[in-house]
Amino acid sequence: MICLGLEGTAHTIGIGLVDHDGNILANRAEMYRPTVGGIHPREAANHHAKKIHPLLLSALEDAGISLSNLELIAFSQGPGLGPSLRTVATAARALSLSLGIPIIGVNHCIAHLEIGRIVTHCRDPVLLYLSGGNTQVISYANGRYRIFGETLDIGLGNLLDKFGREVSFPFPSGPLVEKAALKGSELLSLPYTVKGMDVAFSGILTAALTLHRNGSRLEDLCFSLQEVTFSMVTEVAERAMAHLEKDEILLGGGVACNSRLQEMVSTMAEERGADMTVPPPEFCVDNGAMIAWTGLLMHRSGVRMGIEDTMVEQNMRTDSTEVPWLSPGTTA
Ligand code: AMP
Ligand code: MG
Repeated sequence: MICLGLEGTAHTIGIGLVDHDGNILANRAEMYRPTVGGIHPREAANHHAKKIHPLLLSALEDAGISLSNLELIAFSQGPGLGPSLRTVATAARALSLSLGIPIIGVNHCIAHLEIGRIVTHCRDPVLLYLSGGNTQVISYANGRYRIFGETLDIGLGNLLDKFGREVSFPFPSGPLVEKAALKGSELLSLPYTVKGMDVAFSGILTAALTLHRNGSRLEDLCFSLQEVTFSMVTEVAERAMAHLEKDEILLGGGVACNSRLQEMVSTMAEERGADMTVPPPEFCVDNGAMIAWTGLLMHRSGVRMGIEDTMVEQNMRTDSTEVPWLSPGTTA
């Protein structure tokens, strides 16, 4: 069975083709990049509407198959921006109805975890999921994927993008912050906002912009932003691992591409005798393959949806989704 996965929760439209055994046959994506300001939800949705068809054709060509070979359509049902979600869900419904094949709505956060499991071969990890919109520590416990810590305000990637916008870095700014941080050395004072198992980033953004206005070196600011925020999320992830007695940590989301983050988390993992795994960058960022693969896992374990079940859920929670492909008490 070949599944077409459509990802479109935010700025990226992704088309993935995955077979029944988890072989990734194609994975195409394009990111909407605003020329000024942040993501405008309607413009992101228009971008996706324009790109779906050409990306689909390229993905089919990459895989060497045609539409008639598809047997399942999976799409990102939430969480995300309403206009992006609705545009991609509409395309998924149209394809399902015109091809006469089943449709399945996928939880985007769980898809990050499942693609990480299949491409890095970890079994039962704690996922540190750090993207533009989301920052969560997720793991399997008592029959569900549950959130063990999360941001109370903005995502970590969003903090880097917002900071970058104010200091004239293009979007997305994370890679430029990483590059500038390599030339920084002084650890400036920024708030370290871990609250129990949760984190908060908006106060750090305000503090960093104040330091910028007061003349702190940009390189030192980028360095300090990374050191402080990456320490915060590493601390929470470590506490989740200790609490759950798990010995694998998986990174996901665009911020997981950052070398300093990987270094910090791998040091933590090593000190605990645990393993860290990181998918290749195309599977860290939002992508269609993760939606296709999770859709297949759902379908293989008996999940079925009618068109009436495919309403998007902007605030879909990680622990609201049943995971029948994992049996209670086990991992895979
Ligand atoms: P996603 O939302 O998962 O598709 O990832 C996009 C986010 O990842 C954006 O906020 C980027 O700024 C961020 N990002 C991408 N590469 C890096 C990097 N090397 N370091 C830090 N953040 C990054
Ligand atoms: Mg994501």
